[in-house]
Amino acid sequence: MKQRPSFPAKLDDTLAKNRPNTVGTTTAAPSKPSAPVAPAATAVRLKAAAQGPVSQGHGMESSAVRTRMVQKLAAQGISDTLVLGAMGAIERHRFVDSALINQAYEDTSLPIGLGQTISKPGVVSRMLELMRNGQGGKLGRVLEIGTGCGYQAAVLSLLATEVYSIERLRGLHDKARENLRHLRLANLHLLFGDGMEGYAKGAPYAAIIAAAGGEAVPQAWVDQLAMGGRLVAPVITAGAAGAQALLVLDKTPQGVRQTILEAVHFVPLKSGVA
Ligand code: SAH
Repeated sequence: MKQRPSFPAKLDDTLAKNRPNTVGTTTAAPSKPSAPVAPAATAVRLKAAAQGPVSQGHGMESSAVRTRMVQKLAAQGISDTLVLGAMGAIERHRFVDSALINQAYEDTSLPIGLGQTISKPGVVSRMLELMRNGQGGKLGRVLEIGTGCGYQAAVLSLLATEVYSIERLRGLHDKARENLRHLRLANLHLLFGDGMEGYAKGAPYAAIIAAAGGEAVPQAWVDQLAMGGRLVAPVITAGAAGAQALLVLDKTPQGVRQTILEAVHFVPLKSGVA
């Protein structure tokens, strides 16, 4: 791999000062613990249980589909039991459009609107395993760049005590909040803003995970990573035009240590909000 001597600073002091405002619409997903939708969701689940796994017509209510997915992930080499457990617990079919529900547990990325995609389960679990780095229990505070439909954020919420997830597209930020409502995850905080600036209010983070790939890791992410913390992100590599690879960055007392791993295909990391 190539060592980068330094990172381009994406933030100046002015931006840093304004940062809390850029994510001023900070929204805790489960802001209303007794949201009116909750009883309905419970009712649907109870109905599904009463009528069997095919009551929704797509067979995805059954945990068997997720068990099969988890078995495939394990066969691909994912061994972290917390990650496998979390992947088995979150219902991916609830995060994709109804026309794609039949593909929800296949190892494929799927469109989620606005030109973005939900990542493949294989890549999600690989990145989460790298992020956890074999630790015994849950991580502390974690920052996710690129909420998208909210799926990975939900999985993350089972692996960390607090999760901050930022999305730059308002339409997807809103969609994620909608998708996540039924789960009522009190430790998941959805933020609307430019994730290239990180989210200073939640720092320092035990881990930072990005679901969009840029030319380099923004300096703000490194700054907001706790000492001993780990960042996992797709980055554009020097080789073929636009080709990406997974980067693991460890912040140690001796400095930043970077490792480039396998090739990946993520949507681009973009600055600003839309
Ligand atoms: N983890 C998501 C994957 C979404 S794809 C999921 O489970 O669905 C990556 C997302 O990153 C896209 O929604 C894209 O809009 C978002 N993104 C790209 N650049 C960003 C930035 N600078 N800040 C925040 N989000 C960004």
